[in-house]
Amino acid sequence: MSLSRFLLLAAALAICAAGCAVAPAPSGPPARPGSQAADSGQQPTLILISLDGFRWDFLEHGVTPTLSRLAAAGVHADRLIPSFPTKTFPNHYTIVTGLRPAEHGLVANNILDPRTGERFSLSNRKAVRDGKWYGGVPIWVTAERAGMRTAPLFWPGSEAEILGIRPSYSLAYDGDMRPDDRVDLVLEWLDLPAPERPSFLTLYFEDVDDGAHRYGPDPSEGLARALGIVDRAVERLVEGLEQRDLSLRVDLLIVSDHGMSATSRSRVIFLEDYVDPEEANVVDWSPILGLWPSPEHADAIYQALAGAHPHLAIYRREEIPDRYQFSGHERIPLIVGISDDGWSVTTRARFNGCPACFDGGEHGYEQSLDSMGALLIAYGPSFRRQTKIGPIENFHLYNVMCAVLGLEPAHNSGDPARVEDFLRSPSQ
Ligand code: AMP
Ligand code: ZN
Ligand code: ZN
Repeated sequence: MSLSRFLLLAAALAICAAGCAVAPAPSGPPARPGSQAADSGQQPTLILISLDGFRWDFLEHGVTPTLSRLAAAGVHADRLIPSFPTKTFPNHYTIVTGLRPAEHGLVANNILDPRTGERFSLSNRKAVRDGKWYGGVPIWVTAERAGMRTAPLFWPGSEAEILGIRPSYSLAYDGDMRPDDRVDLVLEWLDLPAPERPSFLTLYFEDVDDGAHRYGPDPSEGLARALGIVDRAVERLVEGLEQRDLSLRVDLLIVSDHGMSATSRSRVIFLEDYVDPEEANVVDWSPILGLWPSPEHADAIYQALAGAHPHLAIYRREEIPDRYQFSGHERIPLIVGISDDGWSVTTRARFNGCPACFDGGEHGYEQSLDSMGALLIAYGPSFRRQTKIGPIENFHLYNVMCAVLGLEPAHNSGDPARVEDFLRSPSQ
């Protein structure tokens, strides 16, 4: 083991020693009857991989040979339909809970809790690690409760104690950690002796999201570079599994959280043309506005914004159309503004202060848009081979993962019947 890998593993174990729940006896549930894992007497193992911002059609850019090979060999969905709002934390947490954002409570990347006045944002390390923001039961909690060990590396929510449980192995999010080091850490976790070895692991790569925000979603050298980075990381993982003779025992579920739309500096809405942003109390900006005006300003703000711009739909939170599936949670802002595909909403000060902004890619828009469609590839011994399926919503995946791991799912919004789209029957 190289020194750097050893240090990473030691750091991960140290974090666990400092903060992880004591893992129960590592007996674990039996493998799913008829599965390859059961046949070989092994515990099933699943690696959930997120390629943030990888739009469903980025495979067609022709620069991701490993992902294309896995898509052709396993189950490949036409696209994964994200949940609204099509942002990172809401959707990652939907995938691991089977609940929509309005059900699990991570209703945006930037949230105000109206009860406490506290704020959540991705850069607020304290909030990201605070279990009170996370509703539902993430799959690593389901698995740890069943006696498995888990290692959800960098998955949103994985740093928090949720329902009194922390994953056996986790690491504080570090966007600078190299993709290869992330892959090697996961492989080292798989090399642990059986009682310590995790059965559920995750990988997270932000490169494509970064690249597509910057260069936009159309084919370009910059986006191709980012796509190449994540493709090589997945290739490194697959090779590492093959070298360890694990490729027949480990399942891979490769997803993204949302797609990406091209933005333009000619498609920008300036909020101060209609209301005073201070009075509107903007908690979340483009392309979805989250407004928490005080009660005395709320009506006037709503009236001033409703119908004011043809590319910005404004709703009181009770009136958000059903198709968004975004109602019923107290953290949904009093007034929500939804920009049309490819539009941005900001202030002139922000716009003029950043000449490179609003001219690349963005996401957050309505989840049914083609541009917001995400990636879904399932590959490994549990999954069907060479199978194309139609578009599927991301909250169905929690049940699929539970089935692969032989876990009893917690309450969730997924349709259990969708599991059959993915799983290989024993005879296949
Ligand atoms: P978004 O623009 O909604 O796709 O957010 C993407 C950004 O989320 C990434 O560039 C990361 O900086 C950030 N992010 C991803 N995972 C985490 C995490 N576990 N903790 C904090 N920030 C994260
Ligand atoms: Zn994202
Ligand atoms: Zn993004």
